[in-house]
Amino acid sequence: MKNRVLSGIRATGRLHLGNYLGAVKGMLALQDNADYETFYMVADVHTITTPYNVEELRKNRREVILDYLAAGLDPEKSVIFQQSEVNEHIELAFLFSSVVTIAKMQHLPTFKDKVKQHPDSATMALLNYPILMASDILIYNASMVPVGIDQEPHLEVAREIARRMNADFRTNFAEPKRFGTKGEYVPSLTGEGKMSKSVEGSYINLTDSLEDIKKALARVVTDSGRGTVRKKEGLREYYYEDENGRLSEGVGALLKFVELFQGFDKRREYEQMYDGDGIRYGDLKSSLADAIFAELSPIQEKRKELEANPEYVDKIIEEGNKKAREVAAQTLEEVKKKMGLAS
Ligand code: ATP
Ligand code: MG
Repeated sequence: MKNRVLSGIRATGRLHLGNYLGAVKGMLALQDNADYETFYMVADVHTITTPYNVEELRKNRREVILDYLAAGLDPEKSVIFQQSEVNEHIELAFLFSSVVTIAKMQHLPTFKDKVKQHPDSATMALLNYPILMASDILIYNASMVPVGIDQEPHLEVAREIARRMNADFRTNFAEPKRFGTKGEYVPSLTGEGKMSKSVEGSYINLTDSLEDIKKALARVVTDSGRGTVRKKEGLREYYYEDENGRLSEGVGALLKFVELFQGFDKRREYEQMYDGDGIRYGDLKSSLADAIFAELSPIQEKRKELEANPEYVDKIIEEGNKKAREVAAQTLEEVKKKMGLAS
C-alpha cells in the first residue's frame, strides 16, 4: 500500500502567502510523488472552533477548494474533499478523546494563543481542535502531513494518540510526520507573529492584485533603512536593530519575503545595504511586489477559469467526498471493533 498524506486548511477566508508557501507547496510536492496517495480537505469543521459567520463559512468551504485547484491541486492525483461531508472524522475524534487528558489539551501553546486572540470564546470545540486534527490524519492512516511549523504541537498530539491507541487497542496507526517547506513560517505583515487568515492586516491573499499587494506592503512599518543585522544563535534566522537599537520587526518580515520570492542572495544584498549606505524601502517594496505578483498571476488566471465552470468544481468535490468517505468509514469501523463498540 502507498503511504498516505493528509492536509487541510480552515475555511476562515481566502488562502494567503503563508498557506501557500507553508502548506500548499508541500501538498503539491507530495501529490506529484508517485509514492504517496494524497488526501486534501477544506477543514470546515475546524472553522467553528473560533467565532465565525455562518454565511462566510458557507462561502469559504467552497472558496478554499477553488484556491486549491487554482494553485495546482489535481483531482486526478489527489482526493480533494470537505471535512464536514465525512462524518467519520467527528466520530473518530470522540473515540480518540477518551485517551487524551484535559490538562494536556489546556497546556498546548496553540490553544493558549487562540484563547488570547478570542478571550470570550474558549469553547470545548477549541479545546478539542487537536483531537479532531489527529482524527483527520489517522482516519486515512496518513504518515506525512504537509503543514506549516505552527502545526507541529498538533502533530505531536496526533503521534501521542496513535501511540496510545496502538498500545491500548492494538490499532496500527502510523505516527505522522510533518512535511516542511522553505516557507514553513511566513511572518505577518504587522511584524508580529505569523501571517493568519483571521488576523486583519497580516496577510496577502493569492487573489490579490498587484495594486493590493503594493498597498499591503506599503503598510509594513520600516525604519531609517540602516542598523545592525543580528543572527539568532545556531539558526539561519536574522533580526534587525535600527539605529536606536530598537527591534525592526517589519523589516524582518520584509526581508523574509525577499528571501522567499527573490532568493537568499537578494536578501543578503539588502542586509549589506542595511549595514552600509541604507535600504531604500520604496524600491525594495516595489520590486518585491512585482516578484510576489509574478508568482500569483498564473494562479489567478487558473482561478478565473474555474469560477467560470462551477459544475466542474462541484463534480470534483462530490467525487472527492465520496472517495474520502469510503476510506474513513473503513478505519472507523475497525477502530470501533477494537474498542469493543462493534462486533
Ligand atoms: P486561521 O487564522 O483561521 O487559523 P491560518 O492562516 O492560520 O488561519 P490555517 O487554516 O490555520 O491558516 O492553516 C492552514 C495551513 O497553512 C496549515 O498547514 C498551517 O500550518 C499553514 N500556515 C498558516 N499560516 C502560515 C504561515 N504564516 N506560514 C506558513 N504556514 C502557515
Ligand atoms: Mg491557523
